[in-house]
Amino acid sequence: MRLIFIGPPGSGKGTQAKLFSQRLGLCHISTGDLLREAVRQDTPEGRRAQAYMDAGQLVPDDVVNDIVNARFRAPDRPQRFVMDGYPRNLAQAQSFDQVLHQQGLDLNAVVFLNVDDQEIIKRTSGRWNCPNPQCKATYNSHSQPPKTAGVCDDCQMPLVQRDDDRPETVQLRLKVFHDLTDELLDYYRQRGLVIDVPGSGDIETIYQNITAALAKRKPPP
Ligand code: AMP
Repeated sequence: MRLIFIGPPGSGKGTQAKLFSQRLGLCHISTGDLLREAVRQDTPEGRRAQAYMDAGQLVPDDVVNDIVNARFRAPDRPQRFVMDGYPRNLAQAQSFDQVLHQQGLDLNAVVFLNVDDQEIIKRTSGRWNCPNPQCKATYNSHSQPPKTAGVCDDCQMPLVQRDDDRPETVQLRLKVFHDLTDELLDYYRQRGLVIDVPGSGDIETIYQNITAALAKRKPPP
């Protein structure tokens, strides 16, 4: 299975992508995680990306495309994957198509998780993340709180909130998302790849809705 998840920040695309990766054995590729790791390790890409990320803006396409291309050209490149947060615009989708073509890989579907803006602001303000790179568990104080407030259930690390989850930055990220996504979805709709799934409700129900929608589709040739 080869999937792309598209959704506004806080739509649950990361949570669903992680579930699909765990349950179907797919490689989970989150450009947000790869970029945050590059910032943490203070690599040249990380240094270029940080100011954009803090401002809620997209990192330049060449930085992100290079990171994804390197992943798909590495000796352990993924054959079956779920993309989380990439591509984000038409130029990235076209670059990704080239990489997939070179590797002889076809996409099965593009899952669009749709959630309205008010709900997004509420959700992102409640997001808490485990900073342990081996764990990366995510929580939400409204919908999926940790057993002890502020502490990771899995590894007991103190949880942190992302700087770019501040409400004013989320507003900006939503604007960027709306400005770019219609064109991106149209690109994939023309190829009959898009599955529209409402991103509200509990995590398991959304997972089952996506699975049911995928099951109705024909496999790629
Ligand atoms: P995310 O974790 O997917 O919400 O991404 C967090 C931030 O990383 C975004 O607000 C962007 O600044 C940056 N980012 C992640 N993926 C991309 C991408 N495909 N293109 C450009 N910037 C990205």
